Amino acid sequence: MFNLILFGPPGSGKGTQSERLVERYGLVHLSTGNLLRKEIADKTALGLEAKRFIDNGQLVPDAVVIGMVDTYFDAHREAKGFLFDGFPRTVAQAQALDDLMSRKNTSISLVLALDVSEDELIKRLLNRGKTSGRSDDNDEEVIRKRFSVYLNETRPVALHYNALHKFQEVKGEGSVDEIFSGLCEAIDKLH
Ligand code: AMP
Repeated sequence: MFNLILFGPPGSGKGTQSERLVERYGLVHLSTGNLLRKEIADKTALGLEAKRFIDNGQLVPDAVVIGMVDTYFDAHREAKGFLFDGFPRTVAQAQALDDLMSRKNTSISLVLALDVSEDELIKRLLNRGKTSGRSDDNDEEVIRKRFSVYLNETRPVALHYNALHKFQEVKGEGSVDEIFSGLCEAIDKLH
């Protein structure tokens, strides 16, 4: 299996690039943000619980997210690999993912991090808020909160994978095509 984590702050382009990457490499896209938004749209108990956190720019509790990933993984046993988008977001999630992978006799192949400046990120998120219908993209306070959560809780995940020699930064500014080429180049070196 080829298991890729696409890493980066909110607004770094993970969703856009993930769509292209899964198509190019035939991976199953696992976006915890998308799964959570689906739970909210379906008005499930999990969705109702998650919404309180999402609307405040906070992370949904680890146990909830890890359970969701476990279920999704088991529902796609035929996959030749996964692209994890927006997960793991805490070191505890990264450890749970590593455990899950080893229970399934596989591992994370590579972590690619999109590198984008904070000014550019805020501009992109406010723009996306005008069209995405995402309540967490409309409010600059919520966006700033998501950045501070990223720095405090998610950024340490980079160190976790750096220590395992699986972490690589890729330029996240420029055109969508240019960024995609940079990602493909890093992946193709491993393939
Ligand atoms: P995203 O679409 O990845 O930007 O996620 C939107 C929101 O969903 C985040 O701001 C979090 O509140 C929540 N969320 C998504 N993925 C995770 C995760 N792996 N752990 C905790 N919360 C998450």
